Amino acid sequence: MATPTDPLAALAARAHDCRACGLAATRTNVVFGVGDPRAPLMFVGEGPGEQEDLQGEPFVGRAGRLLTTLIEGIGLTREDVYIANVVKCRPPGNRNPAPDEIAACAPFLEEQLDLVEPRVVVTLGNFATKLLLDTKVGITKLRGQTFPYRDGVLIPVLHPSAVLRNGGAALAQARADFVTIKRTLAA
Ligand code: SF4
Repeated sequence: MATPTDPLAALAARAHDCRACGLAATRTNVVFGVGDPRAPLMFVGEGPGEQEDLQGEPFVGRAGRLLTTLIEGIGLTREDVYIANVVKCRPPGNRNPAPDEIAACAPFLEEQLDLVEPRVVVTLGNFATKLLLDTKVGITKLRGQTFPYRDGVLIPVLHPSAVLRNGGAALAQARADFVTIKRTLAA
């Protein structure tokens, strides 16, 4: 197959052939990323779950529907943003990605960030936040705050799965953090 000339598509093609960590052995699909390749707003989650692994697209299960609702709540659609994960292949049984798997996959995310060049990066949950902010501080302490990141801003928010698990108060926090995202994008 010819190498795509679009750099993001070429990177996706490399990811689809990747066997750099053990997650390659159990994946159904590599879940590279989806959305506007020049989006000003990019979401970074943790890793594919069952539905994402089956469909090859990030955030298409229950947590994905909540993310879509939150995105639409600030007047955008999934097509307006770019969505990716820290690891591109599903950790079996939805376990946490291991440090060696995160390290092996991080170059793909770095290159996605280089190519999309979002002004606002939103990390969803602990794994993306700790990786991109290079911190050990947990998401509950960092959520909703804005941090300088590359040439723009990074805003950590709760992972939609955690919002679904924890219900009311967590949903209110997520909604408030999306208002911060909207305000930051408009600034
Ligand atoms: Fe490669 Fe990332 Fe998949 Fe591991 S998770 S096999 S590093 S694409």
